[in-house]
Amino acid sequence: MAELLFRDDPYLKSCEATILAVNGNAVEVDRTVFYPLGGGQAGDTGTLGHWRVVDTRKGATGDSILHLLEPGAAPEVGMPVTLHIDWERRHRLMRYHTALHLLGSVVKAPVTGGRIGEDKAHLDFDIEMERLVKDEIEAQVNALTAAGHATVAKWITDAELDARPDLVRTMSVAPPRGEGRVRLLEIPGVDLQACGGTHVKNTAEIGRLAVARIRSEGKRNKRVTLTFAQ
Ligand SMILES: [Zn+2]
Repeated sequence: MAELLFRDDPYLKSCEATILAVNGNAVEVDRTVFYPLGGGQAGDTGTLGHWRVVDTRKGATGDSILHLLEPGAAPEVGMPVTLHIDWERRHRLMRYHTALHLLGSVVKAPVTGGRIGEDKAHLDFDIEMERLVKDEIEAQVNALTAAGHATVAKWITDAELDARPDLVRTMSVAPPRGEGRVRLLEIPGVDLQACGGTHVKNTAEIGRLAVARIRSEGKRNKRVTLTFAQ
């Protein structure tokens, strides 16, 4: 049971915590700034005490977070530790993640998958290839980053979400359920989606984007990959 500090403030780079559980190389603490792999977004890396955190994963319950340490680490239950995320990497993930919300609002088609990495991000759409025009998508997402739209996180109940299926663009990147409430990410006038990931405060922070590739990955998967423009 950890306090998930990244939910209310994705800009937190470090925190003090106490080790609650150690299972092999997986460490749980009482509060964390580390985002676990989920919703298409890569898990955070960084340090916990003296040790490298090589990846972060979800544990058995919604608020259990496993910090996966480098080989040779010797954490102990009860130990106070300082946690630091690799901020430059996380900030790139936040910029790419927010960029995918813009991409999803520009391409009017069901989303069948998505992935956010450090160097690129993509969404898969159930759409005909000829409707995906590189220059048009690029111009539209860059208009949205240049416009400097604020992003707002809010919470609704599971029941409210069930009544609004339009808020879940794709089940493959759906936010975690079962806590009784689900987080929404709103970019007013642009996008409103259930999303548990980390986002930048303003779309201007994303910077210029390029459509690196549009490729068919199957009948219902047409993949649009974004990168930061040089
Ligand atoms: Zn999101």
